[in-house]
Amino acid sequence: MNRREFLAGGAALGAAAACAQTDTEREREREEQRKQLTALQEELRRAREGRMQEELRRAREERMIVGDPSPHFVPPAKPAELNLCLQLWVIPVGGDYNAKLDWLEKNGFSSVEIPSGDWLFKEADKFMAAMRGRKLKLSAACGPSDFSFADKARRDKEVDRLMPMLDVLGKMGSTGLIVCPARRRPELPFEELRASFVEDTARRLAQRAAECGTNIILEPLCRGETPFLKLVADAASMARDIGRGAKPMGDFWHMSKEETSFCGAFLSAGENLGHVHIASLRSRKIPGVDGEADNYIDGFRGLKMIGYRGAISFECGYPTKGKDANGKDIHLSEQEKVDLIIKARDLIKKQWAEA
Ligand code: MG
Repeated sequence: MNRREFLAGGAALGAAAACAQTDTEREREREEQRKQLTALQEELRRAREGRMQEELRRAREERMIVGDPSPHFVPPAKPAELNLCLQLWVIPVGGDYNAKLDWLEKNGFSSVEIPSGDWLFKEADKFMAAMRGRKLKLSAACGPSDFSFADKARRDKEVDRLMPMLDVLGKMGSTGLIVCPARRRPELPFEELRASFVEDTARRLAQRAAECGTNIILEPLCRGETPFLKLVADAASMARDIGRGAKPMGDFWHMSKEETSFCGAFLSAGENLGHVHIASLRSRKIPGVDGEADNYIDGFRGLKMIGYRGAISFECGYPTKGKDANGKDIHLSEQEKVDLIIKARDLIKKQWAEA
């Protein structure tokens, strides 16, 4: 091997060695870069996830503050309270007003509902004398009304008929006069009837009611009794549009025919709900006589959610015991009526506790 060959061989070996060393280092470098890249990608992924989580949290907070379109619940300022009430003519015992009111107080009822109409002018003083010194409260006054006449003079006459009742009810401390805007065949088209009721007839009555310290209470009925105001939400909307002195109410009997949810109906009335009627849900008798059908728990849940503290008043009849030989109804004895009301009271208390 000459010098030139030696140098050439050495150079080749040197180059090969150098090349071999570079490949290994490059491989290590590439490995290192791969690790760094993986770590970087992992870091980015975590950062992105964290940022997304933070954005999601903020969005949720903003929706809750700005107005989440989904239902959310604001607890009532005061918790709901069960206040059981009987209409005067449903009290199961006979005797004078004192005897009837004594029975109510002794048997866990906290208020009484009275008739409206002529009874108010004839009996209010005597009745209030019997109420004196009692813990019992006076809830609403119930009777017929209709504001759907095409003739304005007839509508005005209905307003004039009810105005003096508001004066009496205000003095008695009643929660309000129950009114229905229309019965079976309204003469006015619905659009005109609503405008006339909200902007004229009911508004005049509500303003007078507010001046007297009471209310008008709008009662939705089922379709057999009216084609017009059937839903608690509509009564709530009308009461809002009428303004001060107007409240919506719900009657479980009518609601069972019209509403999709007792709870939803009461929620739509909210804190303005002024009164509640209750009856058995198949035959409109004393609550409980229709067995399992008489389930009010969903409604009571709604009443609790809105913090309802008004009366739940029995508006119903007593069942009969069949017919006698002459085809006449056989009525319950006074004791049987008492037993039925006590059972109804206990059923409602149980379902209220469960709601
Ligand atoms: Mg009713």
